Amino acid sequence: MVPRRDQHVARVPEHVVVVVAEDADGVLRLPHGTPSKETLESLMSRKRVVGACRLCGAFGPLEKSHIVSKAAYRRAAQGPDGETPELGLIEITRDGVRRTTKQMKEYLLCRVCEDRLGNWERYAYPVLSQRDRVFPWLAACTTVAGQLADCSAMDVDVLARFLLSIVWRLGVYKAAKTRQESADEEFTRRYLLGQAAFPAQAVLSVTLLDPSASTLGRVDRLFTNLWRGGGNGFALYQVVILGADARLFMGAGVPQDFYSVCFARTKLVRVRPSDEFAREHAGFIGGRV
Ligand SMILES: [Zn+2]
Repeated sequence: MVPRRDQHVARVPEHVVVVVAEDADGVLRLPHGTPSKETLESLMSRKRVVGACRLCGAFGPLEKSHIVSKAAYRRAAQGPDGETPELGLIEITRDGVRRTTKQMKEYLLCRVCEDRLGNWERYAYPVLSQRDRVFPWLAACTTVAGQLADCSAMDVDVLARFLLSIVWRLGVYKAAKTRQESADEEFTRRYLLGQAAFPAQAVLSVTLLDPSASTLGRVDRLFTNLWRGGGNGFALYQVVILGADARLFMGAGVPQDFYSVCFARTKLVRVRPSDEFAREHAGFIGGRV
């Protein structure tokens, strides 16, 4: 027996993209209420993909969002001034190394949320992009002691939201192999939406990879997928993006001394030579083809 349209649609779980076909008719019962006939007709005429925004939950047209911004792909491809841009990118996975021109995209966010994340990206990518070995974010920091540097001159709130938005997106897109724990994802989502403060049981540790004394080559033209680790009573979600190594620790068991270097709370970052990172990840980033 063919289900009626409303029965069929009612089984679609929240956050699943619903494509409104050109010939759709009747009233659709959608997860977040029933849009008016006019709204549906308008959406259908534009052949837009509609569904529930993964971040705010509002029903409406969805944007084909980059999971990692196209600014990151551009930066990875371009390299420093004076060098010939790469024709493609090199994707390194457990299964091997290959050239690719594919960028991760998905109908994920509504326009409002796409703009919300876009505003943070417009601030973050220029300070992450290292042209001629100048790392603008690092250049704006002042050394406090040892490896610690103070970022008070930067918009720390925007940078923290940007970094958590990368962790969050990499954990929720359809093909993600690594995800945040659902409770952690919810804390992150509400923080990104501005509905909650920075999660009380979370620490964001940021390490900037200093390229100034590099002899092994640059590490600022790569970004990673989400890495997952953790310890007793806490999870670690790590992303390295264009020379910034961001680690988000979440859970009741996050060691107390981690809080003293939480970027979101203290505006402090660690700074380490990029060659150290290159050595640790030689097998991972050295596989140029
Ligand atoms: Zn939204």
